[in-house]
Amino acid sequence: MIVTQYVRNMGWLFAGLIAFGARGQSQVQAQGQAQVLTQAQAVRRPNIIFILSDDHAYQAISAYGSQLVQTPNIDRIAREGALFTRAMVTNSICGPSRATLLTGKYSHKNGYTLNEKKFDTRQPVFPSLLQQNGYQTAWIGKWHLGNLPVGFDYFRILNGQGQYYNPDLIGARDTTRVEGYVTNIITGLTEDWLNGRDTSKPFFLVVGEKATHREWLPDIPDLGAYDDKDFPLPPTFYDNYAGRLAAENQDMTIEKTMVLKTDLKVHADYVKSGIFNRFTPEQKKPFYDYYENKISREFDARKDTGENLVRWKYERYLKDYLATARSLDRNIGAMLDYLDKKGLADNTVVIYASDQGFYMGEHGWFDKRFIYEESLRTPFVMRYPGVIKPGTRVSAITLNIDWAPTILDIAGVKPPADIQGVSFLPLLEGKKTVWRKAMYYHYYEFPQPHHVYPHFGIRTERYMLVHFYGPVNSWELFDLDKDPHEVKNLYGERAYQKTVVSLKVQLKELIRQYDDQDAAKILEKESK
Ligand code: CA
Repeated sequence: MIVTQYVRNMGWLFAGLIAFGARGQSQVQAQGQAQVLTQAQAVRRPNIIFILSDDHAYQAISAYGSQLVQTPNIDRIAREGALFTRAMVTNSICGPSRATLLTGKYSHKNGYTLNEKKFDTRQPVFPSLLQQNGYQTAWIGKWHLGNLPVGFDYFRILNGQGQYYNPDLIGARDTTRVEGYVTNIITGLTEDWLNGRDTSKPFFLVVGEKATHREWLPDIPDLGAYDDKDFPLPPTFYDNYAGRLAAENQDMTIEKTMVLKTDLKVHADYVKSGIFNRFTPEQKKPFYDYYENKISREFDARKDTGENLVRWKYERYLKDYLATARSLDRNIGAMLDYLDKKGLADNTVVIYASDQGFYMGEHGWFDKRFIYEESLRTPFVMRYPGVIKPGTRVSAITLNIDWAPTILDIAGVKPPADIQGVSFLPLLEGKKTVWRKAMYYHYYEFPQPHHVYPHFGIRTERYMLVHFYGPVNSWELFDLDKDPHEVKNLYGERAYQKTVVSLKVQLKELIRQYDDQDAAKILEKESK
């Protein structure tokens, strides 16, 4: 790995870090005091690696039954541990999901409702509690919370969204541009940190992957990896959005929103583009050969329009996305091999999750945001040798607010009372436990990007009821037993009125439980 080219003065960020750090620390100490364990107790506890990717759809993982590709290394975690079939997020976008991981709270409680905000690092974050209790903590890779991490002994993070090639990496002392492909670089930095860590302590490490975020730039060996495959269209590809106002008015279709030049690299601008400006000549050449000489020429020759063009875009989208994911899976394999080689596998919990799900052409879409199935759910697999029986399937509704308390529980630290999630460790230990039958969701970001109306709703094992607000005032109900793809809005159908009433009561109760006062006010106004 070559660390060269430039080092920027990050003095202002240090000043901020020290100021925030000092305040954050005192709050956390107050909460963590009763829980401090001796070092001897701490050493016996497992290490925890949380690999958090970005926009990786469960539909693109073979352990989840994907027909699109094989993901042998993610599958290995599931096979040797547990696969969660109803892992869901509480607000389906990037930054808010990370803020929820750190706090175990809904967006309205941790303040990070939309992307591009600054995460308030004065609030308690659970890795600080792990530190207080003898864990060494690190965050490597994508962070994207507008601030520097607090609660981590070490961090090396991408600048904002980060770059696929030759990314800038921010550390405590400097920012450096590192030559190479981001997923490989993150694995390299992870192994470097693990090699140099304090082996007298257990560790908690977040590996924040950039993959598979838009605009899906594969590693060079993966260019064209799936060009011989034709992907089937999902059943809702030609959805007409009848009876669903928000779906009708979004701006995230493959047809209209996906950009040929930037997303699919058709006649990309290799001179002015900020993406390709970063490339070395050795990196640019295979890209140019592939996307310009092969793909763009094919595009020109086909002269596709209308439905043929949409189908071609869909094929190219999947090929680029899945080729980008190929490096992700391979690098996860490298990390698992590293743990084997170093004798760490038996005492290290490995979690793989995405920050949310993603549309792979369902409803004609890419992107996320909606409470609908593909973006509500997220892949989540977990290996915990000696605790999780290999091949376990967890169908309970687990949420990203549960991630923090579960990790604390694994580390033997009692979660603070104001954390909104619940540890699902008892479910994995096979203990009888009362578990939620319904989940609450609230999405905010509007109108840019993608023009998805803000909404909140309830999802049970069978139903999903959602209220869209802002410029609209509409409700939708889906019976997932009869309509798993959520195309028939049953709200207003006489046969479902009892169901609606019952779900609204449950929704209000969840809003009260999680203290979402904005949603409560909207509901109150609505019922007048
Ligand atoms: Ca994301």
